[in-house]
Amino acid sequence: MTAKNTLTSYQEKRNFSHTPEPSNQGEHPSKQPIFVIQKHDARRLHYDFRLEVNGVLKSWAVPKGPSTDPREKRLAILVEDHPLAYADFEGVIPEGEYGAGTVLVWDTGPYRNLRAEKDKKPVSMEQAFAEGKIEVWLQGKKLQGGYTLIRTIRGKERWLLTKMDDEKADARRNPISTEPLSVLSGRSLEDITDQETPQQ
Ligand code: MN
Repeated sequence: MTAKNTLTSYQEKRNFSHTPEPSNQGEHPSKQPIFVIQKHDARRLHYDFRLEVNGVLKSWAVPKGPSTDPREKRLAILVEDHPLAYADFEGVIPEGEYGAGTVLVWDTGPYRNLRAEKDKKPVSMEQAFAEGKIEVWLQGKKLQGGYTLIRTIRGKERWLLTKMDDEKADARRNPISTEPLSVLSGRSLEDITDQETPQQ
């Protein structure tokens, strides 16, 4: 499937004359794929976890956000692919539009596919996604180390996001509450809401 085909759902849900979200695909300048986690103060606050795979951002909505504690399994609901251009989107999606609310880039950076690095039977990201078993190493500003995303048997949209038990695991950290600001602009959700909401 081409990147273009997988963005149909994204484009159909949005009216680009009303929302500031990107309509274009976007391009990634570097060779290493990226991840991004966007804090999204929609009807219900959640964190959108996105991984660049094949020119699009595979996306999951994580109600509680990621943890640095390997004992915590976080529900991650698979949502529509997003364009790469979404990775640096911060702003306010207007009332009445899909996903209305404020978006902040909570963390981002390159990632590595750990399943591609295994000696026996290396697995591509596309294949890992199809199998429902993703293992990545994140190099973000707030999150580092291995994370797994495993599809549950209770339906194809339900996955679990878990920190791997490696040297970057830390049960005492809680970056969701202690590091709430944007890694791109240093702004809070309130700052973005104040600055980006169109004046009437
Ligand atoms: Mn969202």
